[in-house]
Amino acid sequence: MFYPCALASAMLVAGCNASPTNNTAALPETANSTTNQTMTFPVTKTDAEWRQELTPEQYRVLRQADTERPFTGLYWNTKEPGVYRCAACKQVLFTSKDKFDSGCGWPSFSDLASAKTVILRNDDSLGMRRTEVICAHCGSHLGHLFDDGPKPTGLRYCINSASLNFEKTNPPPPNPEEKK
Ligand SMILES: [Zn+2]
Repeated sequence: MFYPCALASAMLVAGCNASPTNNTAALPETANSTTNQTMTFPVTKTDAEWRQELTPEQYRVLRQADTERPFTGLYWNTKEPGVYRCAACKQVLFTSKDKFDSGCGWPSFSDLASAKTVILRNDDSLGMRRTEVICAHCGSHLGHLFDDGPKPTGLRYCINSASLNFEKTNPPPPNPEEKK
């Protein structure tokens, strides 16, 4: 029996997640993956507590590093001004000023709201080398980082909608870089 939908979906995921150049040299430094077990975070909860607080989809993505299907999440096409918080611990991770339309079906950001809000680590699952993005505050899985984003950073934080809570702001969040 042939399942065309499942196959198309798998190809979409692989096509979008794989960096076309497969060159990770430009990415920021990743944490040593051997230290993963000893990482500690300001927000720590038991697995039972996370299960209780999060929706089943949020739990699968944030705590089990699952990836939502492209073009199905809440925020892949959101263009309103606001901030994006970690859905698990509510820390602000990204702002609308860095969100761009990558065409890949997941919310994409070219930069972080502020430095050190996420931790990067190597992810060798699915037979390819990728850079996983996790929340520095609670250790939850957010998505992956690629080096094919727009200038000036050249970065693309490819983040699951399920990992984010959008909070609309009006007026738009201030951009300190505009005052030069
Ligand atoms: Zn978090």
